[in-house]
Amino acid sequence: MSRLVMKFGGTSVASLSKMRSVTSKIQKEVENGNQVILVVSAMAGTTDELIGKVTQISPLYDAREYDVIVSSGENVSAGLIALLLQSMGINARSWQGWQIPMKTTDDHSNARIKEINIKNLQEKFFLGMQVAVIAGFQGISDNGRITTLGRGGSDTTAVALAAAFGAHRCDIYTDVDGVFTTDPKITPNAQKLERISYEEMLELASLGAKVLQTRSVELAMNYKVKLRVLNSFTNGSGTLVCDEEDIMEKSIVSGITFSRDEAKVTIVGIRDKPGMAGSVFHYLSQANINVDMIIQNISEDGLADVTFSCPTSQVNAARKSLEKGKADKAFNYAKLVEDKQVAKISIVGIGMRSHSGVAQTMFKTLGEENINIKVISTSEIKISVLVDGKYLELAVQALHEAFELGRALA
Ligand code: ASP
Ligand code: MG
Repeated sequence: MSRLVMKFGGTSVASLSKMRSVTSKIQKEVENGNQVILVVSAMAGTTDELIGKVTQISPLYDAREYDVIVSSGENVSAGLIALLLQSMGINARSWQGWQIPMKTTDDHSNARIKEINIKNLQEKFFLGMQVAVIAGFQGISDNGRITTLGRGGSDTTAVALAAAFGAHRCDIYTDVDGVFTTDPKITPNAQKLERISYEEMLELASLGAKVLQTRSVELAMNYKVKLRVLNSFTNGSGTLVCDEEDIMEKSIVSGITFSRDEAKVTIVGIRDKPGMAGSVFHYLSQANINVDMIIQNISEDGLADVTFSCPTSQVNAARKSLEKGKADKAFNYAKLVEDKQVAKISIVGIGMRSHSGVAQTMFKTLGEENINIKVISTSEIKISVLVDGKYLELAVQALHEAFELGRALA
């Protein structure tokens, strides 16, 4: 019997009527002879509302209780969908993370899956269960406490279950038709991609595309889980996230993504001598700052400016850690300059490995639009730039055009 994982996001289970309409997709897969492992998110808006309640009590909440509260949204959707499926004559049963059990680390609010014991579920399938409805996003630590997997974590629940069961595919149902060349809200002629490689999807997700949790893509890549992103309310084929070898036509640039959640910090007037950068980034890493882009400008008087980017929410912590480094006399600097009005724009494509001139096209295009590039970083398959936030739309549109993404892909 073949096994299929289906995951429905918050907008797909936002109301009883939405739930009813997605159950027909589930019924179809059951009728096709699949054992269905169904992962559900909380009803749209629920998780945010629960987080709001927690932070109202105290901004310095106990993370273990946060997880108890915030994971509860998924329990409600799982129970409701199970009831709806039962009313259609389908043998369905809901499962919370701890009941499986889905074992995780004890990093509350951002736990990682360690191990899934599928014995209980397998037994129930053997005894006639047709659909196991699983509350996404949650697990249990070695201490027996409830954990959650970070925002968007239901995607990771789904991929992990697909890997554990050796499912033939993991279908992620959402409110868009698939993965697009860029956000259609910004560039109306953005195209849906038929296929995208794990590696590209991983870059897109970690650079700001919200369609899949980054960790779920990482897991799919490691366990070679065939992942499909598709719309809950239409009948399109979606986008298949798969191995590079399964993609016939490799485009140079597959997608453009962006993030407004990035800020730029410049350390002005730091001594230009060996060990300085090591010391600065030691302090930043001690404070768990996710530094992304880095540049250093050397001036003639033996001083340098070091600029880095990090999530906007971490700027205060970054400043504090640098002030601490200065107070400890680990390094000295004249001042810190922060810029939160920036946007990071990235182009991603496996074809970049074998094509030259991609960076040149990107920089020239931005130049022609009079958009100044503040910081650049590259990897084998992506180029990111930081620009003034007010140019985000213009930059994305111009790059989408320059790389012919509106037409070339189907
Ligand atoms: N409900 C959780 C969230 O909103 C998990 C998920 O939907 O994947 O982040
Ligand atoms: Mg999501």
